[in-house]
Amino acid sequence: MNHELMDERLARKLCILADAAKYDASCASSGAPKRAADAQGLGSTAHGICHAYTPDGRCVSLLKILLTNYCLYDCAYCVNRRSSNVRRARFSVEEVVELTIAFYKRNYIEGLFLSSGIIRSPDHTMEQLIQVARTLRRDRGFRGYIHLKTIPDASPWLIEQAGLWADRLSINIELSTEASLRKLAPDKNSAAIDAAMSQIRDRISEAKAERRSFSPAGQSTQVIIGADEATDEAVLRRTGRLYDEFGLKRVYYSAFSPIPAASAQLPLKAPPLTRENRLYQADWLLRFYGFSVDEIMAGGADGMLDLEVDPKLAWALKNRHRFPVDVNRADREMLLRVPGLGKRAVDKIIQARRHRTLSLDDLARLTTGLKRGRPFLVAAGHRPTRLLDRLDLRQSLVEPARQLRLL
Ligand code: SF4
Repeated sequence: MNHELMDERLARKLCILADAAKYDASCASSGAPKRAADAQGLGSTAHGICHAYTPDGRCVSLLKILLTNYCLYDCAYCVNRRSSNVRRARFSVEEVVELTIAFYKRNYIEGLFLSSGIIRSPDHTMEQLIQVARTLRRDRGFRGYIHLKTIPDASPWLIEQAGLWADRLSINIELSTEASLRKLAPDKNSAAIDAAMSQIRDRISEAKAERRSFSPAGQSTQVIIGADEATDEAVLRRTGRLYDEFGLKRVYYSAFSPIPAASAQLPLKAPPLTRENRLYQADWLLRFYGFSVDEIMAGGADGMLDLEVDPKLAWALKNRHRFPVDVNRADREMLLRVPGLGKRAVDKIIQARRHRTLSLDDLARLTTGLKRGRPFLVAAGHRPTRLLDRLDLRQSLVEPARQLRLL
């Protein structure tokens, strides 16, 4: 451990409280050690340093820790729940401030992600989190990124305070249905979560209108997948509401992973990771590609996304009558529905077709997704009508080794 930065007692706490924070995906952290960590310096202090993406797409290193992993609540899926037998630790406000400043000054981090178990009361816990952020900003002139976990049961006044000092606030909904919350997180309720999210939404939009700063990077949340029986459809319907009603910047999906000494109410196995990926892809379709949950889920078996093919391809295969799409004439909305064509590729196509009629070769220069898109599009010299009728089209796209001859 690097004694220059901290004593052993503090280093032990950091170990416990960084490890305890790793289950939270709501800052888009990979949990990976810091870039270019060297064995001598950073390697020995890399506990808790993770990568995250800011809303403008920059990759930043954050110190990702809990203030404490003691908790009054007993959420069945959480390793820090009251009844869990884990090692516990608690930082003081000053300790978190000093660690953050020390790491920041040495360029180990560009910001702080701070969450906490609930100690004494939601208000007391929230006050401590705010005190860290306020001390960093006001007393220590900290200009790095701050992401604060917000406790929905805390009083509205405290949530107001949090937004004054943090760049981003997040409240984890964790489970997408009220029934699952009652069963697995009996101390939480979705009405309190919704109320806190709508308060944050209102403050953010007021602050924007008045050109003030209040959680300028918005709010986000995390949903755990596979700890309860919620289908993908139920998860996506909740997600759709979060984007529409509360203006969330991001919903993060975290596949449940069995925890030590898990509650008997939980499944023994983690869901396939592909399920998490498919939900991220569906989420992308909701936010950027103009799809509705009804469209994404139409014809799906048991309310679950297709694990074999991505949701956009699954939709195209079920709606073959909408294809092929002429890349030289179709509007942007329809081009975005062609499998393999991402937003950037569509923009390039629209730009390029102003100057010439596009062929498959032209498209190959504009996108890497042409193989998947080819059966669904028309280009100069290419009209794949018969391909769309082939019964083995889906299979050919699932298994690249068995590609059809698509020309
Ligand atoms: S409130 Fe629930 S999820 Fe959060 S730390 Fe406590 S037990 Fe874990």
